[in-house]
Amino acid sequence: MIEKPARGAEEAYPQTDNHPCLGEKSFMEKAAKELEEIRSVIEARMRKIRRKILILSGKGGVGKSVVTANLALALALKHGEGRVGILDGDLTGPSIPKILKARGQTLRAGPPGIFPARGPLGIKVVSMDYLLPEDETPVIWRGPMKARAIMQFLSEIAWGELEYLLVDLPPGTGDEALTIAQLIPKVDGAIIVTLPSELSQLIVRKAISFCRRLELPVIGLIENMSGFTCPSCGARIDVFMRGGGEKIAEEMGVRLLGKIPLDPDLCKASDLGEPYVIAHRDRAAAQEFLKISDELERFFGRD
Ligand code: ADP
Repeated sequence: MIEKPARGAEEAYPQTDNHPCLGEKSFMEKAAKELEEIRSVIEARMRKIRRKILILSGKGGVGKSVVTANLALALALKHGEGRVGILDGDLTGPSIPKILKARGQTLRAGPPGIFPARGPLGIKVVSMDYLLPEDETPVIWRGPMKARAIMQFLSEIAWGELEYLLVDLPPGTGDEALTIAQLIPKVDGAIIVTLPSELSQLIVRKAISFCRRLELPVIGLIENMSGFTCPSCGARIDVFMRGGGEKIAEEMGVRLLGKIPLDPDLCKASDLGEPYVIAHRDRAAAQEFLKISDELERFFGRD
């Protein structure tokens, strides 16, 4: 019996009514078999990763990549060199290598597979950024090409032993996010990044529903850009409104893991590729990332 292929696979192996070389049935059988093989390779690759976490946002620009990178730094501080990895799943706007000053490296291949690049604290990074010849090169791919690239990333990267793999999903709940979420075996949970505003909450609902439909446990929400404290007078300004994270967490029955304030130094550090959580450890936002990493450890019963 042929099992129904995952969505990404349908796109990677488009159905055809009249394939020139094979009958329709044998073409589909071949595609399903190939997909099963890829799945088992991915599963074997990921067996040495203790925790696989997806980081989602309803839409772009809410700071998902910055949150992913800094959460990885906070976790790496706990677990040591080379124990945390990030898969930058944003194929069209990869930014993790820049935030972690891990650009310009080459993904080297060896007998076990392709080795990830390295960021601070030995954080292992895989990103489309390493495969683009120039900064200006856009990724103009249709769904099937993207699904192919994602499968290749997942099946060929030699992550080695990791405590945590954070997967920075493309913004939204579209094809790419779905393909990645379905191809990663035994995802431990998802974290959703949002802003405090009502507009963002609307979209967060979709992200939570996306996780529930895929039966991914929602670890919790992170409210980013949560207020700004004026460095001159100390007054708090709620640039993106206030209280949205608490409200949506309560309404949707999920935990609010933490609230990261707006900090111009966080933006600057991300531009410079400076590891914010380490370089500005005393700042409120850095403390919040560390607190969220404690929450994560507690979630997995490891405090
Ligand atoms: P996304 O991945 O959701 O598209 P990014 O992580 O690329 O968003 O962040 C968008 C911009 O906002 C970047 O310039 C980043 O440095 C900045 N940024 C994100 N979070 C904060 C914050 N808490 N304080 C200041 N700047 C932030």
